[in-house]
Amino acid sequence: MNFDLVIKNGLVYTEQGFYKLDIGVKGEKIAVLAQPGTEMEGARVIDAEGKHVLPGFIDCHCHLRDPGLTQKEDFYTGTMAAAHSGITMVCPQPNTKPVPSTLEAYMEEVEAGKAKAVIDFNPIGNPLGPREDVQKIKDAGAAWFKLFEKVATYPYNTTAGTLDTHRIYQAFQDCAAADAYCSVHPFDKNFFDAAVEEVKAEGKPVDLKNTRYRWYSDEEMTGAAYQLAYFARKTGMKWYAMHCWMPGYVDLVRMLKERGDMTIVSSMEYMPAIDPSDEIYDIASGKYIFVGHDASPDKEKIWKGIRDGVIDMVGSDHAPHAPGDYHPEDALHTGAGFAMLDYFGHLLVSHVNEGCYDLNKLVEITSVNFAKTFGMYPRKGSNIVGTDADFTIVDMNDEWVITEQDKVYTKTQTIPYVGRKMHGRVTHTVVRGSVVMENGVVNGVPGYGKFITPQNSK
Ligand SMILES: [Zn+2]
Repeated sequence: MNFDLVIKNGLVYTEQGFYKLDIGVKGEKIAVLAQPGTEMEGARVIDAEGKHVLPGFIDCHCHLRDPGLTQKEDFYTGTMAAAHSGITMVCPQPNTKPVPSTLEAYMEEVEAGKAKAVIDFNPIGNPLGPREDVQKIKDAGAAWFKLFEKVATYPYNTTAGTLDTHRIYQAFQDCAAADAYCSVHPFDKNFFDAAVEEVKAEGKPVDLKNTRYRWYSDEEMTGAAYQLAYFARKTGMKWYAMHCWMPGYVDLVRMLKERGDMTIVSSMEYMPAIDPSDEIYDIASGKYIFVGHDASPDKEKIWKGIRDGVIDMVGSDHAPHAPGDYHPEDALHTGAGFAMLDYFGHLLVSHVNEGCYDLNKLVEITSVNFAKTFGMYPRKGSNIVGTDADFTIVDMNDEWVITEQDKVYTKTQTIPYVGRKMHGRVTHTVVRGSVVMENGVVNGVPGYGKFITPQNSK
């Protein structure tokens, strides 16, 4: 039989486990799963001997900055970086300009993605626009909504006031009425401000190094999360608990899940991927950025939460900034986060060899749980015949080190993990039958990426 793409000799993920199978792809779909050695001709053939063929990774949390902040990233560069580490679909966060809180603004972001994305995408809506637009944005295809408890307006402004909790409650009511998930970054401005005052009282400058690790503490995030949990229960809204990395927060969602109150939790948005660090690299060179982060999470608790199913998904929190947006000497007026997507998928693979979780769990947290929750299964999140031919092919044995000389695709060309030892590497990214990345080289075509919605996944 003739196929557009044949992937031979790989250990292929199936719902029953990993099996050595050959895959035949016709057009954008998986046409055949066959015993190795079956006669199959392919216009293109990948020999995956010694490798694992996983359903395409999906990043549930990244900032692509498009539209409006494209000096930091855009749909093209951001999805190129994603493809570089095995990601086949992304869900960009809504802190863009304009904020996708109206149907019109949401569709503007969708159109930007359709024009530039090299992999599939679904932008996250924001529920703080006109209340009637929540339903419209959901109907247009948004998989879910997100807001930040920090401030009423995007992009973030740490000196602005807190988002009115009553308005959050209304947004939960609107999402509940639309039967939509809503995620919230838990935050308490009073704790945030107190940390700044503490730095001042110690006579230290309010720079990133002195301030940042005091923010997003356990008591701040968990305290806020308890309130969100109650609002969600009261309104009957499907709460997507995000940024779940603090110990009390993990305990809370564990309790809620045992009670049957909630279904989806994401964690690890970049936090435990690196060790806490106060290092500030050479920003002027544009090569490195600050990688020190907020209050230290309890990594062991996060890994355990992932292993036992309390945490369902992981996100990159790819959050790049242009060098001009970055002022490490002024914690209140600088961008938080860094470019993550060029390495995110590789790190998730490396964590398997580091003993954090096993390969089956990797597949669950990168694709299956997402696709099942947001109505995209089995089109996404499976290797089932007839579904989208999205694959992340990994070599679990490759040992390598991230270096300054690495080729990256993020717009700012920043490399946040120089010197990190890696064990396991993504070698191919296949999106709907098209090989977008092979051995570190991304050949993305802007506009190839499709807007995938729960509605078009039926
Ligand atoms: Zn984020």
